[in-house]
Amino acid sequence: MSTILVTGGAGYIGSHACKALAAAGHEPVTYDNLSRGHPEAVRWGPLETGDLLDRSRLDAVLRRYRPRAVMHFAAFAYVGESVRDPGLYWRNNVGGSLTLLEAMHAAGMERLVFSSTCAVYGEPPAMPITESMPLAPVNPYGVTKRVVEQMISDCAHAHGLRAIALRYFNAAGADPEGETGEHHEPETHLLPLVLEAIRDPSRPVTVFGRDYPTPDGSCVRDYIHVTDLARAHVLALDALEGGTGFAACNLGTGRGHSVLEVIEAARRVTGKPPAVRDGERRPGDPPRLVADTGSARERLGWRPEYPAVDDMIAHAWAWLNRQA
Ligand code: UDP
Repeated sequence: MSTILVTGGAGYIGSHACKALAAAGHEPVTYDNLSRGHPEAVRWGPLETGDLLDRSRLDAVLRRYRPRAVMHFAAFAYVGESVRDPGLYWRNNVGGSLTLLEAMHAAGMERLVFSSTCAVYGEPPAMPITESMPLAPVNPYGVTKRVVEQMISDCAHAHGLRAIALRYFNAAGADPEGETGEHHEPETHLLPLVLEAIRDPSRPVTVFGRDYPTPDGSCVRDYIHVTDLARAHVLALDALEGGTGFAACNLGTGRGHSVLEVIEAARRVTGKPPAVRDGERRPGDPPRLVADTGSARERLGWRPEYPAVDDMIAHAWAWLNRQA
């Protein structure tokens, strides 16, 4: 059993990762400032409340637990907010990650799994997206993730850090056993908003554009079950044991679903039609983002266990109804 420090372990993907770590026999120690995370989501190991920018607190936690590796989720992740307030994103995402890397180096720690995003690609030249495509993010959120990847890569060269950045496509769903799930405030993601629109017809979901060059005119995304993401992090830890240097892996299913297909799937799974209205395109939304998943398969031995969007919806729906 190894102790793993999980920054952002009180958040959506971080809490699922803690569950996956515990199931694999590790002890997850959550380090979270609770600015956006939820203490009740920390159920599989201790919670150490602290900010990534607080170096002395971070040092004290590293000294206390002597973790074998870090899984680094803690970050702000709203594209729109990052456009309005880029300083917040640079300070928290980049400054926080730099502090973490320095603290890890000082403590002699050399294993890191980093929570990255397909937003590092911006509007890629071809589909599906491979890891070798140009990194050209189109918003400050994606820029901060790209910059942190570069910092990690530099540290791998300079002092032997071993690291894997996992570039998520569209995280969706909830723990199939109902022990944790999604809870963003405010919620901006499609799937939870569709489910809210089913529960409360006075809050219709808006389709952001129906005039894209896609089969039904709405945007296509690669939705990936959060439990599959969590499992990929544990496999990445295993891969770090034998590996060196820095690598990046896409995490998606390799299949795209349009906004209208997600809405139809939600109707099918819940038996109720969501209230829907049409809206303008959301600035910065590329028409289609789908992962090439070959690298995650080969490097991590990872394959999604819940590739069907219907399962993501069913698990998210069960979670939502449990919160009521
Ligand atoms: N979307 C939408 N209405 C919403 C939220 C999202 O039509 O209220 C669309 C959005 O344009 C994108 C897809 O759903 O094509 C997924 O958006 P989300 O914000 O969930 O994730 P993103 O792709 O931005 O990471």
